[in-house]
Amino acid sequence: MSERRYLGTIGAEAVGAELELVGWVHHRRDHGGLTFLDLRDHTGLLQVVFNPTAAPEAHRAAQRCRLEYVVRVQGRLGRRPAGSENRQLATGEVELAATGVTILSAAEPAPFAIGDERPVDEGVRLQYRYLDLRRPRMQRNLRARHRFVQGLRRSADAMGFIEIETPTLVPSTPEGARDFVVPSRLRPGFVWALPQSPQLYKQLCMVGGLDRYFQIARCWRDEDLRADRQFEFTQLDVEMAFVEETDVFAALERLIGDAWAEAFAIPLGAPWPRLTWQAAMERYGSDKPDTRFGNELMTVTEALAGTEVRLFRSALAAGGAIRALRVPGGAQLPRAELEGAWQQVARDAGAAGVVLLPRLADGWQGPIARAMGADELARLAERTATEAGDLLCLVAADERVAGAALGALRLHAARRLGWIPPGRLDFLWITDFPMFERGADGGLQPLHHPFTQVHPDDWPRLESDPLSARSRAYDIVCNGVEIGSGSLRITRPEQQAAIFRVLGLAEDEVEAKFGFLLGAFRHGAPPHGGFAAGIDRLVMLGLGEPSIREVIAFPKTQTGQDPLTGAPTRVTPGQLRDVGLRLAEPPTGPGPATR
Ligand code: ASP
Repeated sequence: MSERRYLGTIGAEAVGAELELVGWVHHRRDHGGLTFLDLRDHTGLLQVVFNPTAAPEAHRAAQRCRLEYVVRVQGRLGRRPAGSENRQLATGEVELAATGVTILSAAEPAPFAIGDERPVDEGVRLQYRYLDLRRPRMQRNLRARHRFVQGLRRSADAMGFIEIETPTLVPSTPEGARDFVVPSRLRPGFVWALPQSPQLYKQLCMVGGLDRYFQIARCWRDEDLRADRQFEFTQLDVEMAFVEETDVFAALERLIGDAWAEAFAIPLGAPWPRLTWQAAMERYGSDKPDTRFGNELMTVTEALAGTEVRLFRSALAAGGAIRALRVPGGAQLPRAELEGAWQQVARDAGAAGVVLLPRLADGWQGPIARAMGADELARLAERTATEAGDLLCLVAADERVAGAALGALRLHAARRLGWIPPGRLDFLWITDFPMFERGADGGLQPLHHPFTQVHPDDWPRLESDPLSARSRAYDIVCNGVEIGSGSLRITRPEQQAAIFRVLGLAEDEVEAKFGFLLGAFRHGAPPHGGFAAGIDRLVMLGLGEPSIREVIAFPKTQTGQDPLTGAPTRVTPGQLRDVGLRLAEPPTGPGPATR
């Protein structure tokens, strides 16, 4: 076949041409003795007309064409009769007068309409993903994603980065999530892990003199799925030698900015604002603040220092704080909603509850306000600038808990009351993260990962007061979504050993797990740092989609299944034997063995 003509590109300049075209049958109608097929490809639609007198055989064949049949048509392009043009359509001035049509593939009736954007149950969309991919939304999204990734590659290349593939069967690396493991056939009882990220390999590239690495890297983490989280996801993974934070920041701003311009035709501008982790927690109660709107949190501990209200007093006595969020105009919200949904938001964020104080023209409302002194209320009003018509939310608790609850309420209020300016993108850097936090088991764990450098001022107290030590880790956040993380890395074996000591790893365990890395650092390791940015999340934001599933060709459902293939599936006894495994429990529920 000669070069393929895409349907949406055929205009009046081609009138008179003999064309051979392919596409899906989008619409068929019989009218005035003629049969019309609208043919579709990803560029658009073209009307094809079949005349029973001029081309009887083609006309008969066209009668057999149903929706979503794949056909090839021949004919001559003509102008549509005056008055029958379709101004909505790019090709609406022309039509193909068919002389022949071949059915290349028949199609069963589709479970949903392909041609429109009407919502379809997501389970059905994913089960018939190949049909869903034909629809305008997924065509637009995946093509934008392609342009985004090409933009990243072009930009990285222009900056002297080289693309390196790292393995996907790796030893388990500690990125803080659960690994997907792959049993080894040749060493029964041993496992590979799928990489949570290429972290250690990219650091080894630096030791290997590949001083600007990048990869469009697939990563796997066995975590519960959410709107912005899948088992497998794609990162723009970057590592650079001989750099400081600012070099990494500039590189990422340019990479993402270039790709954004290419995919979404929007200049992002740079440099992006920077906020320390401490400031983010104080002002927004979150390390991924949505900075598209203000309404920052406040601390009112001092204003309420002498309070008689028991709830406040006991929190203060326990060393806690009283934090506040002012919701302008919030006094009008129904009491039932405040005591229902708003309380629930605070509880879901870990607080026992939130004190909700509406202020009306005739004063503060509610039992807690009545229990407070007039002076106290006046100080509170002054400190928080609360006016008649506003709602004041107070949480008295451990400072972090209070911040988290009010941070969650701030987002809830923003959605409920329309604080978020449409179309706005707020990229920013969060810096100076703490090096460690307490995990669910009470032990210390790195906030980023254990290969992250400690803030130079904080090395001396690393072992005596590890929770107060800051790291040289940084995140990119956009519109309240964490886009990615990075850090400057440790390259001195004794510093790396100190981190492992704080984490309570025994020396032989360190040697067994990370001996290769410490060994590499003893062979001339340049100072280095890097970053990984989530491509799925970036494209989701660029397209204004609510979930990364909308920008991934074949995602899993929120419950971690693939309705298209039925995976995960059972394995046969033979497959288990091959890798030396026996099941403790037979699997329950449907699912055929794979072989
Ligand atoms: N490996 C890290 C991650 O996936 C990113 C980095 O530190 O470069 O979050």
